[in-house]
Amino acid sequence: MNVLGYAAYAADAPLAPFRFERRTPRHDDVVIDILYCGVCHTDLHQVRNHRGASRYPIVPGHEVIGRVRSVGPAVTRFKPGDTVGVGCMVDSCRHCVACESGHEQHCATSPTFTYGSTDRHDQTRTFGGYSESIIVSDGFVLRVPEGMDLAGAAPLLCAGITTWAPLRRWQVGPGSRVAVMGLGGLGHMALKLAKGLGADVTLFTRSSGKEADARRLGADRVVISTDAAQMAACAGRFDLIIDTVPYVHALTPYLPTLSFDGTLVLVGYMGALDEQLNTAPLVYGGRAVAGSFIGGVAETQEMLDFCGQHGISSDVEVIRVQQIDEAYERMLKSDVKYRFVIDMSSLKSQELDA
Ligand code: NAP
Ligand code: ZN
Ligand code: ZN
Repeated sequence: MNVLGYAAYAADAPLAPFRFERRTPRHDDVVIDILYCGVCHTDLHQVRNHRGASRYPIVPGHEVIGRVRSVGPAVTRFKPGDTVGVGCMVDSCRHCVACESGHEQHCATSPTFTYGSTDRHDQTRTFGGYSESIIVSDGFVLRVPEGMDLAGAAPLLCAGITTWAPLRRWQVGPGSRVAVMGLGGLGHMALKLAKGLGADVTLFTRSSGKEADARRLGADRVVISTDAAQMAACAGRFDLIIDTVPYVHALTPYLPTLSFDGTLVLVGYMGALDEQLNTAPLVYGGRAVAGSFIGGVAETQEMLDFCGQHGISSDVEVIRVQQIDEAYERMLKSDVKYRFVIDMSSLKSQELDA
């Protein structure tokens, strides 16, 4: 199937139109016409090769909302016309311990990611949601609850599940005290979801000026993380800190703000830290530093259903695909409220212009 997308051809080149072939649909595939695709900071890391392993061309995008065009003969859960979502994964081995326990993101053979992966059946490259359509095995297609704003639903497929999974793993609910580091795409979903679960919620931010927004999004208090007095005032407070910061930063200032038995869970930065981690606050406080990676398929559906029931969606700025490089530059300056989402109908005008 020939598809038009928008691709990165190199780390230092603007994204540009790209025509490519998607595989012929298999018996369990769902063919989806893409309506909206969210812009995750991971797209920027991949496009600019921040992690050193990018292979070009890349069609980014793993926060996909679309409408089912057709389904293969083995598909029973979806039909043409359904509104559906696709997140960061499109396949996995389905038989390992992780897959069988609903943690496909930790598949022993690595899940097949929505872009930048190799299909496990026919070895073709996967290309993501900055495109007009996508083909996904039905086991990795999510149902979008009725009545949701569709642009606002797109970021739930990555930013939503990535923050939902740790909230659930650490059993956050009424009485829990949760803090979120960084108010961007993941951070703003973490505030909304933690509040939705009934927690007391705090935002740690470097940016003064986000306070009113943070409160509107669910924060009960806002702490400027560079202000030592404000940090000291939170000593021993939090059961869970969700750290969404995408670049090297120090953990040391945050550890004393955990309660005993509290956990700081990293979801943002992946790589070496500059600091030597002092283990004393971990040992004496019985505290933990942990990591979390997106979430499983069933858990993603659970999060979408929760959002449907509680009227939760992302705060989005809808852009045309041709504005993507500008959007990346603004993300680097933390200038996004709070997720860019591409209206994929803008690709059609691309074709008319060409
Ligand atoms: P984003 O929208 O750009 O937000 C990141 C926020 O972090 C910014 O708004 C800013 O908040 C803060 N920040 C940015 N640069 C910083 C720096 N140098 N030092 C301290 N704080 C900084 O990014 P996102 O889309 O939420 O993604 C965040 C990270 O999560 C990315 O690295 C992405 O790759 C990763 N990610 C991981 C998973 C996973 O499964 N674990 C899934 C999706 C994304 P303030 O202005 O409030 O300080
Ligand atoms: Zn993402
Ligand atoms: Zn597996």
